[in-house]
Amino acid sequence: MLRELGAEASEVRVPDGLDGLDGLVVPGGESTTISIGIESAGLEPAIRAHHEAGRPVFGTCAGMIVCDDAHLGLIDATATRNAFGRQLQSFEADLEVEGIGDEPLRAVFIRAPWIERHGPGVEVLASYAGHPVAIRGGGVLACAFHPELTDDPRLHALFMAMTTSARERQGAER
Ligand code: GLN
Repeated sequence: MLRELGAEASEVRVPDGLDGLDGLVVPGGESTTISIGIESAGLEPAIRAHHEAGRPVFGTCAGMIVCDDAHLGLIDATATRNAFGRQLQSFEADLEVEGIGDEPLRAVFIRAPWIERHGPGVEVLASYAGHPVAIRGGGVLACAFHPELTDDPRLHALFMAMTTSARERQGAER
């Protein structure tokens, strides 16, 4: 999705992999497995340094959980895992999302989390079933669904816009 939007994308598996990146996507999958992988690859300090340097992070589904305050603590929010329960394990929904235009976004939820609590600095971009499912704050964009599984690139485009303005801001400070 990022490449289709014109970005150079690479997989980050070791701490050096973050060098020179404008943004980091923490993808979906399984948050416990991802956390163990981050730990065993020694990626946490590099992710923290990336975030503290003002470079954006995009957490999707399990990646949203990994960014929350019970895990890496990159955003002032707490996610609940598998929040939609057994009846609604996987489903699709049309969401109105702040900041990407009026056209609803088709969202694919797979054993998805939702946001249980968030701080005042966190903006809710979309909600479903009464809970936030897309949020943004402190250079982190996070969504409970899988934006890479449709062909609608608007959330990735929003993330790329965040990386562009972060880069411009850093350029101006230099
Ligand atoms: N249920 C998974 C977890 O708790 C997240 C699922 C996903 O990323 N699609 O980590």
